[in-house]
Amino acid sequence: MARARFSKSFTQQPPIPEDAIEAAVAVMRSGRLHRYNTAPGVPGETMELERDFALWQGQPFCLAVASGGQAMQIALRAAGVKMGDLVLTNGFTLAPVPGAIAVVGGKPVLVEITDDLVIDLDDLAAKARQTGARFLLLSHMRGHLCDMERLMQIATELDITVLEDCAHTMGARWNRKLSGSFGLAGCFSTQTYKHLNSGEGGLLTSQDAEFMARATILSGSYMLFDRHGAGPATEVYDDIRLDTPNTSARMDNLRAALLRPQLRRIDQSIAAWNERYDLVAAKLAAHPAIRLPTRPEAEAYVGSSIQFRLPGITAENAQTLVARLSGAGVEVKWFGAPHPIGFTSDHHSWRYVAAQNLPQTDRILAGLFDMRLPLSFTLPDCALLADLIVDAVAALQTRATS
Ligand SMILES: *Cc1c(COP(=O)(O)O)cnc(C)c1O
Repeated sequence: MARARFSKSFTQQPPIPEDAIEAAVAVMRSGRLHRYNTAPGVPGETMELERDFALWQGQPFCLAVASGGQAMQIALRAAGVKMGDLVLTNGFTLAPVPGAIAVVGGKPVLVEITDDLVIDLDDLAAKARQTGARFLLLSHMRGHLCDMERLMQIATELDITVLEDCAHTMGARWNRKLSGSFGLAGCFSTQTYKHLNSGEGGLLTSQDAEFMARATILSGSYMLFDRHGAGPATEVYDDIRLDTPNTSARMDNLRAALLRPQLRRIDQSIAAWNERYDLVAAKLAAHPAIRLPTRPEAEAYVGSSIQFRLPGITAENAQTLVARLSGAGVEVKWFGAPHPIGFTSDHHSWRYVAAQNLPQTDRILAGLFDMRLPLSFTLPDCALLADLIVDAVAALQTRATS
């Protein structure tokens, strides 16, 4: 029986909620878009967002910035990464992660991943020992959390400062503790494809007052650091304010106004993503050739995208699968392609990073597929998507054995 073609767009996000639109329009009517351009006694939307997010994330300090990439760059600098410093990071992540390390003058040391798509903790410890690297920009890539307790134990033993890239894990937890609250800092993105949508935007959280004071000056605070919603006390800035460069990467009131009402609804969004994820995962897992990353008991994930592996698939079959699915309206990305397409760049295409040998990661990426699950898809949409994927995988196998 031929199935219906899937006809919805994989890049269509739900609309911005009406109350967020109204808040943004009010900012425009006021003319006060710059975060420090606030009427006397009236906290701006950016300040309020910092307060709201700090509270939600359970951290004392939060800084709103221009993008997730800027949150990471600022975090690396504020943590003390200097020209030539080695920074450990996942061998499988998105380009802004090694990019952030490179632009602050750091040298990425790429760590292998496991079949569950998380950083390989044995390789991490080995590479930290071999290289002496003292920083880790840990990417919770595609929403997968490693054993965070073991990771923090390794970091403590080897004196590694941990910065977390939470672009795909806003709201995810390991043993009830939110991602982004394990290391020195959590870096979040609010660009359109992440868990909150302001077009562009980023958030940085920490418990460390001096780190956050440096981050705030770096973000471009023009000495107006007293106008922050969840920043350190002004005396923390005494020396830091003159010792730290301004890199101008602020968030503005318009974006903050779009984000605050979305943050109030994020738990509903997470539940909606997980319903979709669990439905697709259950259908894919029923096919013997398809492997899903295991999701440990300790991990409370946010299923805003789904990954599956077809171990041992040939490049030709992978291309055929992607092309057939595309013909059926299903946008599945393959991370094993020799050239990056859209967001699928891998470490071989980061030419500004010294080439590194990652045989385990390469083997995994050769059979790794990825699909977004935007909330504009209904549960029946997701069921159809999963059925179309299973059909296409089954068709490959039939062809291979006939
Ligand atoms: C999107 C993303 C970022 C950075 O976010 P931007 O806001 O686009 O700069 C960082 N890490 C990962 C894994 C991402 O997917």
